[in-house]
Parts: sequence; C-alpha cells; structure tokens
Amino acid sequence: MSDPVGHALARVGERVVAAAHEAGRDPAEVDVLLAVKTVPAERVREAIEAGYPLLGQNRAQELTAIEPALVDLPHRTHFIGHLQSNKVNAVMRWVDCVQSVDRLSLAQRLSARRSRLAAEGGTEAPLEVMVQVNTSGEDTKSGVAPAEAHDLAVAVAALDSLRLTGFMTIGANSTDHGLVRASYEALAQVREDVLSSGAPGTQDARQLSMGMSRDLEIAIAAGATMVRLGSAVFGSRPAPA
Ligand SMILES: *Cc1c(COP(=O)(O)O)cnc(C)c1O
Repeated sequence: MSDPVGHALARVGERVVAAAHEAGRDPAEVDVLLAVKTVPAERVREAIEAGYPLLGQNRAQELTAIEPALVDLPHRTHFIGHLQSNKVNAVMRWVDCVQSVDRLSLAQRLSARRSRLAAEGGTEAPLEVMVQVNTSGEDTKSGVAPAEAHDLAVAVAALDSLRLTGFMTIGANSTDHGLVRASYEALAQVREDVLSSGAPGTQDARQLSMGMSRDLEIAIAAGATMVRLGSAVFGSRPAPA
C-alpha cells in the first residue's frame, strides 16, 4: 500500500474531532477502536505505533493467530464478532473485552472461564463485557433485540468475574441517515434504561460502541463513546455481520 496507515489514521482522527465538535462534545470522550479483521500483523503494528492501541477482532482464529505477533506492543483487544461458546477458552487469554455478548449462555461461559482462571492464580481482574444489541432489526445482524436488552444486561451484570462496561451495535445498513441515527439513538436509550435501573453491577455500563467508517459522524452525534473503524484506515474489506 502506498498510503501509509499513519496518513489514514490522521484523517480519521480529524473526522472524529470534527464530529465531536459539531455535536458539542469533547473529542476525548470518543475512543477509536481499529477493526483489524484481515489486516496483516505488520500493518496492525504500524497502527499501534502511530498511537492507536485499541483493536477489535471478529474471529477467534484470526485473533489467536495475530496476537502472538503483537505481545511486545502495549495494546488492548476487544472481541467484536459473533463468539461461539466453544471458542471462549481460546480467546480468553488475549482479550480485554468481549463487546459481542448477545445471549446469557455466552456470558455464563465467559464468567465461568474467568472465575476458573482466577482460581488457578491467573488474572484476578473481571473480564469487561458489553451487550450487543441489534438496534436495526436487520436479520443478518447479531445482537439481542432492543426489547430484551435490558433484561440481558441486568443478568450479565450480576455474573461473577465479568464487568459490564456498556453496549455495542452495528448501525442500520442504509443510506437513510434518519434510519441510521435511529439505530444509534436506540442503543443510547438502552443504556439509559439499564443505568437508571440501578441493578447490581450496572453502574459502569456507560460505553456506547457504535459507528463505523461510513457513519461515525452520526454515531458521535448520538452519543458514541467508541467508534470502530476499519475500511477508512485499512481499505475496503468484507462487511461486518
Ligand atoms: C469491520 C467492522 C467494523 C468496521 O467497519 P468499517 O466499515 O470497515 O469501518 C466495525 N464493527 C464491526 C463489528 C466490524 O466487523
């Protein structure tokens, strides 16, 4: 690639700052997570070294293949794809957060594995998780339905060894800005409902992980605290599911 990752990162950084200002928000409230699916380790390393140490991985196999090549560089990795329960053990040692919790059985599996690691003398820290909500209603998308998100979040928050830090969604796949915006506002509404419930373990559920290369401005206007960017940085790749 002739366009170095650093230039693309500078451009997305400017977009995030401009979008925050436009929305009357402090740009420091919005983290950039790099969706690095299919990106080779050398380019991921360049991005981390350019000052973007927050990564998102979609597939367990790719995660476990690439992370050993990054261990010398301080970074954080979030799992953002559909996670099969039988992959929980494989991903656990590499991830700082699983954003794609869409069912209680997965959360229970994550909790049990994390508790076992703690008992064996491994990490004591709870695993950060987010609840993924399908706010667009598109049936190709993962995530719990908005009407069920509150109950799932409250149940996840009550589990040992997990810390619920917020919510994730993939916005409506539409050129209609109103629809996209509605899908992001729906996630913000889920967060308000859960925070105001006061249920045990929900007090830290403040993150809104939403917005991608094509629509980060809309997401930031709707309150995103983390945007997940891939193609704007690394070029076009297959669409997320
Ligand atoms: C790939 C991916 C992104 C980034 O999408 P771009 O359009 O490439 O910016 C965000 N979220 C998830 C879950 C993804 O899989």
